[in-house]
Amino acid sequence: MRNRLLALTPNVLEQENLSNHTTLKIGGPCDYLIIPDTVEELINVVSFAKEQGIRLTVLGNGSNVLVDDSGIDGIVLKTTNLKTITVEGNTITAGTGVRLSTLCETALQNGLNGLCELSGVPGTVGGGVYMNAGAYGGEIKDTLTTTRYLSETFEVKTLTNEEHEFSYRKSVFQKHPEWIILESTFTLTPGNREEMKKKTVELLKKRNDAQPLEYPNAGSTFKRPEGYFAGKLIDDCKLRGCQIGGAQVSEKHCGFLVNKGGAASKDVVKLIQHIRNTVEDAFGVTLEAEIRYYKRGEDSVRL
Ligand SMILES: Cc1cc2nc3c(=O)[nH]c(=O)nc-3n(C[C@H](O)[C@H](O)[C@H](O)COP(=O)(O)OP(=O)(O)OC[C@H]3O[C@@H](n4cnc5c(N)ncnc54)[C@H](O)[C@@H]3O)c2cc1C
Repeated sequence: MRNRLLALTPNVLEQENLSNHTTLKIGGPCDYLIIPDTVEELINVVSFAKEQGIRLTVLGNGSNVLVDDSGIDGIVLKTTNLKTITVEGNTITAGTGVRLSTLCETALQNGLNGLCELSGVPGTVGGGVYMNAGAYGGEIKDTLTTTRYLSETFEVKTLTNEEHEFSYRKSVFQKHPEWIILESTFTLTPGNREEMKKKTVELLKKRNDAQPLEYPNAGSTFKRPEGYFAGKLIDDCKLRGCQIGGAQVSEKHCGFLVNKGGAASKDVVKLIQHIRNTVEDAFGVTLEAEIRYYKRGEDSVRL
């Protein structure tokens, strides 16, 4: 199998621990981790997996996932080498593996406005589109015009903004797990570079001050329930600092769970369940997880 994969792409790692590829630093091995250098390699690997009936999981920067300690069976395809980026007039087209920070920096360097709010989100373009990532009042949907993706029939197709069915942390890609985002185009407006830089620096500082970036984490654990803030509900339940094994409700920001060192995936799962039950009992509000959970032999789920 390894040799057959190596004939398709050079970057094949066997039994690679996914804790090296998730921002929570949790996750057991996958059978094969593949990091394609080109879209052609990606398409070859995806068709090979389909032909052979092998499970295929796509990861960007792993900043919105919990991977079980059992790992993931089959092939994990990591997109971070697909980082072509081009600027034409007011538009930027970015490969799925381009970091959102790089996309924002490119916009800034070219005096293009509309992405400053996303500069601190530690994901890729693909992960950002999948999640409709957003922060400080801006979302990826605001400036995205089109996405090219690989369909279940291995055709490269294009979606307009409307066809993404964007809403809060949702996109059409969540309904079609077999679709793979290849690149997205953003249409921006000319802006003042100094003002944009100032705004970006301010927002990054705000993020640094509020978030527990000193510990591995996966960002906000829960979506914002309508009319509430998840972090405030958790705090009001006196769960700040609550710890199960190595997983802890951050003392700095209750909306984040952090890995205090050696956390097992089951610690995170139990802590999420404990938080959800406690908040539901106290306030009658059901918290919906933002992060996705991957486990060997099972389809991914939202916790
Ligand atoms: C410190 C920290 C701060 C954060 N702050 C924010 C924030 O302010 N706002 C926000 O919205 N999020 C935030 N997040 C969460 C996360 O960074 C975003 O959701 C990000 O968009 C995920 O991108 P990723 O590349 O890491 O995706 P991953 O975590 O690798 O994947 C997330 C999902 O996207 C799918 N996916 C990824 N690439 C593709 C592709 N090419 N095709 C199809 N599916 C794909 C995966 O299968 C998976 O289901 C934060 C996370 C951290 C750790």
